[in-house]
Amino acid sequence: MRIVHIHECTVPISRYSDKELDRGTLTTSAAAIRTDVVREGRRLVGYGFSSFGRYGQSGLMRERFIPRLLKARPEDLLNDEGDNFDPSRIRTCMMSGEKPGGHGERSVAVGTIDMAVWDMVAKVAEKPLYRLLADKYSDGKIDEHVPAYVAGGYYYPDNDVAQLQHEIRRALDLGYTQVKIKIGSATLKQDMRRIEAVLELVGSGENLSVDANNQFDLQTALRYGAAIKPFGLRWYEDACDPLDYTVQAAIAKSYEKPLATGEGQFSLQDARNLILYGGLRPEIDYLLFDCVHSYGLVEYLRIISMLEEHRWSRRRCYPHGGHLFSLHMTLGLRLGGTESHVGTFQPFGGFADDTVVEHGYVKPPETPGIGFETKQALWDLLQSLGKD
Ligand SMILES: [Mg+2]
Repeated sequence: MRIVHIHECTVPISRYSDKELDRGTLTTSAAAIRTDVVREGRRLVGYGFSSFGRYGQSGLMRERFIPRLLKARPEDLLNDEGDNFDPSRIRTCMMSGEKPGGHGERSVAVGTIDMAVWDMVAKVAEKPLYRLLADKYSDGKIDEHVPAYVAGGYYYPDNDVAQLQHEIRRALDLGYTQVKIKIGSATLKQDMRRIEAVLELVGSGENLSVDANNQFDLQTALRYGAAIKPFGLRWYEDACDPLDYTVQAAIAKSYEKPLATGEGQFSLQDARNLILYGGLRPEIDYLLFDCVHSYGLVEYLRIISMLEEHRWSRRRCYPHGGHLFSLHMTLGLRLGGTESHVGTFQPFGGFADDTVVEHGYVKPPETPGIGFETKQALWDLLQSLGKD
C-alpha cells in the first residue's frame, strides 16, 4: 500500500454567489493523493483543499511537502497493522526538517494535504469520515445531526442592504435558522442598519452573529461591542488581531455577551496561548479554529485534547470553513456545530447537493471518505486534477 502521486492546483474562489460581482484575487488549493489501492476496479484517490480565506499553497506543497511524502519508505506512512495509511505518521513525514514556530508559513499547505489523507484513509476503511472519527475518537457515539449556520453577509458594492436581505432570505428558505454577517468594513451606523435589516428576517439576536474579520483596534472593538450589546447576538467574532491576546482579553472583560474567535490560530501552540491569555470564557464563548489552516486534523485532535485539559468542552468548537470536511469533523468528534457556505466560495463551500436542512440541522453524506462525489461541481473539479 503506497502513495503513487500527489497532484495539486490553485483555484480562484469568490465570496459571492453572484458571478457578476468582482471575485477579487482570492484562491484556494485543491490536492489529490493517488494510491495503489484498488477499490471497485479503480485506483483509490484522496482529495482535499485549502479551506477559505488564506490563498492557494502551491509552492509550499510542490517544493517541500509533496516531495517528502513521495520519497518516504511506503511502510513509514502506514499504521501498525499495515492495513491503512496513518495520518499522524504522514504528518510527521511532511514536517521532517521543519523548525518549530512560524506556523502560518506552512500550516495551510500541510492542512490541505492532511484533508486528502483523511479522505483516503476513510475510503480505505470503507467508511464515511465522520464514522471513522467517531469510532476512533468519540467511543463510537454519534449525534443525530449537526447544527449549522450560514456564513456570508459580505458587503455588496450596490444596493448592499437589499442584497444582504436577499441572501439571508435564501438561507432561511433552505431551512437554516442562524446566519452570520460581516461588520467593520463600513461605518458603525451602516453596520447597525445591516444588523437591523437581518434581524427583521431572522427574528432574534440568537439567530445572528457578526464577524469583524480581525480588523479592530481595542477602542473600535469596544465601541462596536457597546453598540451591538443590546441586540443579544449569538456571538461577536474576530474583533481584533488573532495573535493580540492582550487586546482579546480586554474585549472579553468589557463585552459580557458571547465572543467567538480562533480561525486565525494556526497551531496547537497558538490555540493554547489564546486559551491561556485571551480572556475567553468556557461557559459562553466559542472557538472557531480552522482545522485545514492549522496543520489539519492531526493537529486539531491535539487542540481538542489541550482544550479538555483546560476544562473547555469540545461543544464550544464551531470549526471555521463551511464545507464537507468541517461537517464530518463536527459530527464525528461531537463538536458544537459548523458553519455552512451556501453559494459562497464555490465549488468548495457547503455540503452535498442533496443535503436536507431541517430547522438548521444537517448531516454529512454516507459515501466512504469525505463524500466529494455528492457535490457535482466540486467532484468535476477534483477529478480533473492531474489530467492537465
Ligand atoms: Mg471570522
